[in-house]
Amino acid sequence: MSVPLAIPKVLSFEDARRVVEQQAALIRVGNARASDLQAGETESVDLLHAAGRVLSECVTADRDLPPFPRSTRDGYAVRSGDLSQLAAILDVIGEIKAGERLDRIPASIDRGQAVAIMTGAPVPAGADAVVMVEHTSQREKQLETTGVEITVVEINRSVAAGENVVPRGAEALQGSVLVESGVRLNEAAIALAASVGKSQLRVYKRPRVAVLTTGDEIVGVDTAPDPTQIRNSNSYSLAVQIRRAGGDPVLLPVAPDELQGLRRLIEDGLKSDLLILTGGVSMGRYDLVEQVLSEMRAEFFFTGAKIQPGRPVVFGKCAEEKCGAGAPAREKQATYFFGLPGNPVSTMVTFELFARPVLEALAGEAPRTLRFLHARLKREVRVKTGLRRFLPAILSGEFELSGVELVAWQGSGDIAATARANCYVVIPADREHIPAGEWVAVMKIDC
Ligand code: AMP
Ligand code: MG
Repeated sequence: MSVPLAIPKVLSFEDARRVVEQQAALIRVGNARASDLQAGETESVDLLHAAGRVLSECVTADRDLPPFPRSTRDGYAVRSGDLSQLAAILDVIGEIKAGERLDRIPASIDRGQAVAIMTGAPVPAGADAVVMVEHTSQREKQLETTGVEITVVEINRSVAAGENVVPRGAEALQGSVLVESGVRLNEAAIALAASVGKSQLRVYKRPRVAVLTTGDEIVGVDTAPDPTQIRNSNSYSLAVQIRRAGGDPVLLPVAPDELQGLRRLIEDGLKSDLLILTGGVSMGRYDLVEQVLSEMRAEFFFTGAKIQPGRPVVFGKCAEEKCGAGAPAREKQATYFFGLPGNPVSTMVTFELFARPVLEALAGEAPRTLRFLHARLKREVRVKTGLRRFLPAILSGEFELSGVELVAWQGSGDIAATARANCYVVIPADREHIPAGEWVAVMKIDC
């Protein structure tokens, strides 16, 4: 029986990545328009549980930040002009601690006066700087004329106007946007939300990502494998990566290397917001994923990328009416799918390079480019040219002693080597020898 096959489209890494970024950008457009629901459903979450979620509203300043001119030091609030001649002796007319009630703060300080002030306290009108307590000494002094005892401070260091004071509104003005919609919330964004009184935040719902492992040799983790069988590990690594990218993994049963059974499960998976398959995309006689998707008249953006590991990676989308899937989880026109090569390291790397941007866009996140560190190679690398390589490596040492070296591995099936690694060294496609000591790009593996 003749079957339609996807026309091979093997792209360079850069081109494949560009295709992925373009599709991710289209999803973002869908996000902005409520009528085109590729993503965009939102929910409210407690601030304590908002870390890692993607904000679907803007967080704005409910008042100026800081709301008053804030002292950044323990010391004395002064008029900087009073310190042109040192040592200066100023009258201490009060003390302001952090959180001092407004009616207990001197309305103004005049020439020759100072106020003891603590870090985080409001600087009173008239003062334009704070001298650190380390440069002062306070004492009591009896006035010769009246005999009244007053407090004075001797100051031995001058200050510039504005020193150790953050002016009101310098960090943000009331009403200004502090955290944009589409930002993944980290501890700083959450602290900012807390500082403006947002105990609940509106975030995008996590997209549901179907994970479909294929292969007649694959058995579940709780099954005792026959000598030639392999336990399914890819579904578990993918679940971790999907969660990290903001999705909710839904593990489907393992698909057989047989057309009908595979098709049934692919149809199921396409009802989710994204379908990620692993295995069955190479050139073997039983690699049937592309064939099934071709029969379903899927659109393929690429069917390979010139990388190692992960060369046979597939990216495409399947329109709902063509694919004949049942009711999708959300109203949408098509479902994106990735066919990731089954070798465990290939699965991990290709998810990171290609699936992640699409999932992040579906999760509502604003697009971002791949981020690389740079480190010196501790030991030379020799490879064949033609593929951009992402090789498991260990980044170690600190500051000027930091460096990176490849882990010894048995190729892209070697999960044990990858578990010892903490990054991937990126080797350009045209380099066959990189000597020790050269700077190389490093892709960090998140925890
Ligand atoms: P494939 O891409 O289907 O040709 O598979 C490539 C290699 O990855 C084979 O050695 C498979 O046994 C292995 N493999 C495929 N799927 C998985 C999986 N889910 N977990 C662990 N190994 C897998
Ligand atoms: Mg297979």
